[in-house]
This record gives sequence, structure tokens and C-alpha cells, in this order.
Amino acid sequence: MVKELIPPLQAYKNREIKRHELYKELTGIKGVFVPELGNTTLKRIAPFKEEYFPVAQIVPSIDIVHNRYVIEIMRGCTRGCRFCQGGFTYRPTRLRMPEEIIELAKKGIQLTGYEDIGFLAFTSSDYPYLIETIKWIRKELQDTFVSLPSLPIDAIEENMLKELRHLRRFSITLAPEVVTEKLRKVINKNVPLELIYRSIELAERYKYPHVKLYFMIGVPEEEEEDIHALIDFLKDIEKKFRRLRFKAAISPFVPRPHTPFQWVGQEPPERSLEKIRQIKDAFRKSKRMQITYHNPYMSFLEGIFGRGDEKLAQVLEIAYRNGAIFDSRKEFFDFSKYEKAFYASGIDPYKYTRKRSLEESLPWEVINTEIFKPFLLKEYKKSLKMVMTPDCMKEKCTGCGVWFREGYELCRKGIRKDKEYQIELEEKKPADYYRYLLTYAFGEKFRFLSQRDIARIIIHILRKSGLRLRYSEGFVPRPHISLPNPLPLGFESDEELLYFETIEKLNRDKILQVLNKNSPGGLVFKKIEEVFNKPDWTKYSKSIVEFDIFRIPDIKGIQTNLENATIKGNKISFVFDFGKGGILKALQNATGLDKDSVRKLHFRKKRIVVKD
Ligand code: SF4
Repeated sequence: MVKELIPPLQAYKNREIKRHELYKELTGIKGVFVPELGNTTLKRIAPFKEEYFPVAQIVPSIDIVHNRYVIEIMRGCTRGCRFCQGGFTYRPTRLRMPEEIIELAKKGIQLTGYEDIGFLAFTSSDYPYLIETIKWIRKELQDTFVSLPSLPIDAIEENMLKELRHLRRFSITLAPEVVTEKLRKVINKNVPLELIYRSIELAERYKYPHVKLYFMIGVPEEEEEDIHALIDFLKDIEKKFRRLRFKAAISPFVPRPHTPFQWVGQEPPERSLEKIRQIKDAFRKSKRMQITYHNPYMSFLEGIFGRGDEKLAQVLEIAYRNGAIFDSRKEFFDFSKYEKAFYASGIDPYKYTRKRSLEESLPWEVINTEIFKPFLLKEYKKSLKMVMTPDCMKEKCTGCGVWFREGYELCRKGIRKDKEYQIELEEKKPADYYRYLLTYAFGEKFRFLSQRDIARIIIHILRKSGLRLRYSEGFVPRPHISLPNPLPLGFESDEELLYFETIEKLNRDKILQVLNKNSPGGLVFKKIEEVFNKPDWTKYSKSIVEFDIFRIPDIKGIQTNLENATIKGNKISFVFDFGKGGILKALQNATGLDKDSVRKLHFRKKRIVVKD
């Protein structure tokens, strides 16, 4: 779509067309809505083509959430949970076949050097080839680990759990949402409580330490007894599964557009807060059941803006001018700023969270998601009668409308295994390994990265360069690397060391060239030598280190306090004993400056002389 947007935007920028002509052209592109023209637009359904896949993914210099190579294995979910917007708007279901996943993984790991691959899907446990694909990755990319950061499994199968034990950073996440049979039928969550109990039992048997559970409060037809049932359920699992720790996350229900619940009213935040307090109070003394919750006032705003219209733009602007910014960070969120904005713009927020009549036209209907409105209405009415609708991918099509227009393949045949994959894994034998000491340097670009972040970047470069690092065994395998004491942030260095082990002997003639070619620049690999023992870093911390201080505004103020200093231009070189206290303290002594002034100087570590 971006490619289609570029020509009209370019023409407008080059003043070849006027603004109204631009808008007109944009409305001709499928998936674009221009409020000024009041057009309606049809959702785009992108096929799962390999050429659309971003193979060369960005590798961040610092650690971030989801710091891994990401492959979307399946898009869409047809379980039909009536509260879930994604479940309706991402239809139809699309699958990526294991062969393609393996090809993408190989290319991606070669380009990025990532150690982990994250599989993305709404419910990865619904992906029919999950176990085979994980095994295949383990076979093809031995030192690469699949991670399913959270796996919303409703019913864990034992063989799946056994296999998933090989994954890194994997924790069991269960999303019962509600615990009573009545509410299960209302929201169409087809996971009986017995299955949740069984999944928890398996988690305990396979020694998973934590289980995370997700629940909603305030769903349509909820009554006081449903909250009591939720508390009873949590108490029961806490009592029955004594080796596990639990985290129960409670979220107030928000009716979403394009779902069967788009017409229902939303519970006021005060009421949600009362329920949350009631649940929290029941576990105040508990050590193994932690209750967390989503701020009901945030849910209230989500409900308002989610089912809002263009009039709310002024509320947003006023709230922003009142200082509402970074609201998703708890410490910044201040509901009173929005309250004032609603008041100032004369808008009643409850108008947006009220129950909608079935006849009124809804603001979000300008976007056609290809789901028939009569289908959503039928689902809504079924929820009131507590009648469930089966998963159309496992049973028959329930006529949501997507197939009607697209003639989509999976809608015709459902999700089932069309192919069998026999992946045999060879047993890992302890291999010989080789020890290396790498000398590297880094400059301005890297001086504010921690030693840990730089080490992670180096691991990526080593892997990208085809080195087979030696990994530890166990639940979270890590490469065998080690480093000396770190430099403080802000320092450059001409000589840093990193020890690592490989399971293949290196060709040292070429390796430096390859490493430097794969370096992002600013990080230079200078020397690599085979060693026969792991270095004794304590020796290095007692060594003599030569430093340069450069870009000093008042060089004269410093030079008199330095011993063994040589002055050249705006640079002073000096040597001091690393062993006497921390580096900053030593530099303070050497320069005669106070702590703050020392921190403002620009240092470069030149050389380490190891003392015997
Ligand atoms: S058209 Fe039928 S099979 Fe396809 S997503 Fe809709 S209900 Fe499911």
C-alpha cells in the first residue's frame, strides 16, 4: 500500500496537484479513508507472500522488548471470541508453511546474527505445524532458539509441552477470561475450566515455575456471583498446585468496534475498580498469587476513543495541551486531564460508552472489514441467549462474509495438516571446543553503550560471520563468553577484550576481515588469538591502563596535576594503575578535578599493560 501512496503524495509535494485532488486520488486506493471526503473504504487482505516479508530486520544496539528475529507464522484467529477485535478484523486466517519459515529463518539469522527467533501468531498453539517447525529450526539452525514469549494456550497437550521445554524464555500463559459456564457462553470462549485445570497440572508436572492467567471483568451479563466464582477459582488453583506461582492479570472489558459486542454498554470505571479491589483483597496475604490489573480509567478512555467519532479530536487536543502525554506509562497517566478536556469541549464521555441501539449508524462503519453486519448481529443475539459458535476453521464455515468476497482457500477447507513432516533430531554429543581472545576498539558511536550491549552486538557479529559459538546446556542456553571489568559509560577504547568459545576451529587469516565487514562501523576488531585457558580477569583489573583525555576546554587547568603525562595538542596521555580503586576515582586523583568535572571530560582508553 505504501508503494501506491507514494506517487500521489510525490505529485502533491511537487505542486503538480492540489490538496483536494490528492484526497480524491487517495480515496481510489483500497484501504485509505479520507475523513474530509467521507468515503468508505474496504480493508485490504494482504496475502502471506514471501516477498512482503521484511527479511533484513533491524538489530537494535541496546536491549529492547522482543529483541529477536520475528516471523509471523499465522495471521488471523477464527475461534470467534466475541470480545476480540483482532479475531474479526484479521480474518481470514492465513498460514505460512514450515518450508517458508525455515527459509526465512535461515536468511534472517544470516543477515542479523540474532540468537532467538520469535514466532508470531494470535494463538500459536493453533498453528498446525508448530512442533515440527520448532524441531526443524533446531535441526537446521542448531545454535538458534525459538522463543514464544507468551503462549496463550488454553488446552496444553502433553507432547506439545514436552517439546516446548526446549524453548528459551517460555512461560505458560492461559487466557480463560471468565470462569463460569454462563459467561463462557456469552463471550464464546470455548475452553472449559477442566482444560484449564489440566493445563496447570501439566505446567506443574513439567516444572514450569510460573503460570500467567488473563481475566476480564465487566463482560455482558456478568453478575456478582461471577466475581465470587473467579475468586474461588484462583483460591482453588493456589491451594491445589503448591509448586507453582501465579500471576492473574485482570482487565476491564472494553466493547470494541467491528465485533458482536460493538453495541453493548461499558461498565463505569468506578464499578470496575470496586471489583478489582474485591479480588485483590481476597489475595492480600497470598505469596503465590499475584493480582495485577489494567487501570479501569484507561479502559474507560479506550472504550470512548475506540467507539468514538471525529468530535473527540478536540478532547484529545485539549488533553494534550493540558499535558496528557506518554499516557500508556502508568506514572504519566492522569485521568483528570481528560476529565477537564471533556468538560471544556462540552462532550459527555458516557455518551460513547453507552449501549448503542441496533438501528443507529456507527461511526466506524466507514471501514468495511468484510465481515457482514448481519453476522455480527447474529453473534450478538446468540451471546444474549448464551449460545456458542464453533471455530470455523475446525468445524464448518459460519458465514462471516470474508470468504464470500475473497474466495479464500482456508475458509474452504479449514485448518488441518495437509502434510506430514518427519524431523529426526540427532542426539547432541559433547564436542571439542576452541578458546579465543578477541581484541576490539570502539569510538564515539559506542561510548554510551554498556559493556553488556556491546558484547551482545559482538555476539551478533560473530554469528553473522558464520562462527559456531559454544553454548551452555540447560533451560536458557547462553554462549560461553566472558569479559574483564567494564569501562564507565562515556569512554572510548582502543583496546577491549572478549573471551569466547567455538565448536569449530577458526581460520584466523580471514576471520578479522569478515568480522570487520559485518561490524556496523565504529566497532573495530583488531586481533584474535587462540588461548588455552580462560583469562584470569583479576590480573587485568590490576593492570596499568593508558588513557587519553581529549577535547579538553581548559587543558592548562589539568596538566599540572598529572604525573607521567605527555601533552600533545589538545590531548593528554597518562598512565595509571587500574588496581587502585575504580576508574573514575583514579582519574579524579590523576587530574585533580572533582567528580562532575571528570565526568565531563572525554576519555579514550589506549592500552592495557598486564602486570604479573
Ligand atoms: S468465511 Fe467462514 S470459514 Fe472464512 S473466516 Fe468467515 S466464518 Fe470462517
